[in-house]
Amino acid sequence: MYLKQIEMVGFKSFADRTKITFDTGVTAIVGPNGSGKSNVTESLRWALGEQSAKSLRGAKMPDIIFAGTQKRRALNYAEVIVTFDNSDQYLASDKTVVVTRRLYRNGDSEFLINDRKVRLKDVHELFMDTGLGRDSFSIISQGKIESIFNSKPEERRLIFEEAAGVLKYKTRKKETESKLASTQENMDRLDDIIYELD
Ligand code: ATP
Repeated sequence: MYLKQIEMVGFKSFADRTKITFDTGVTAIVGPNGSGKSNVTESLRWALGEQSAKSLRGAKMPDIIFAGTQKRRALNYAEVIVTFDNSDQYLASDKTVVVTRRLYRNGDSEFLINDRKVRLKDVHELFMDTGLGRDSFSIISQGKIESIFNSKPEERRLIFEEAAGVLKYKTRKKETESKLASTQENMDRLDDIIYELD
């Protein structure tokens, strides 16, 4: 599996529709300070489900929408479309995987996988433990290495868990435990009703 293309419109400094196509091998993006290099990696992280505006250097999520310049009006909408070549079937999906995320200034947002509307959870699940997820360390942004060194052992452990591929199972375990707890609550309630009826 490899990242084939990132397409953005209205994302941060990329007001116009911009396509960046990657070949296999190494790609370097160079440019002067403030020209938008970090915005490119952030667009990828955002499309893959990043939920923290702060980690995208904003105060709230709509801050990622093009805010306008002296010469150009702000936009009301941001879209990032990420295309993966999945011909090796690394991801449990089609041979080409296209993930789209859209956000409107009024807060409405949507995710699509191969043109099908999906939940954020579906995007997380598709990439979880693949090394490419929102929380994975294959995208190392500025300051991240320092924060990994300074993190608590429990936080660092999460990184190893993602690398080892156990995060998916831990997440499922948590979901199942919460379902079991709510079922237990229902059973307790049922016992109360039976007791009252007796
Ligand atoms: P450096 O080399 O200094 O790290 P960079 O090339 O990585 O810089 P970025 O940090 O990606 O640059 O881009 C910063 C630019 O993006 C700034 O000019 C900033 O004004 C612009 N920018 C960020 N958010 C928005 C937004 N919502 N609307 C318009 N422009 C934005």
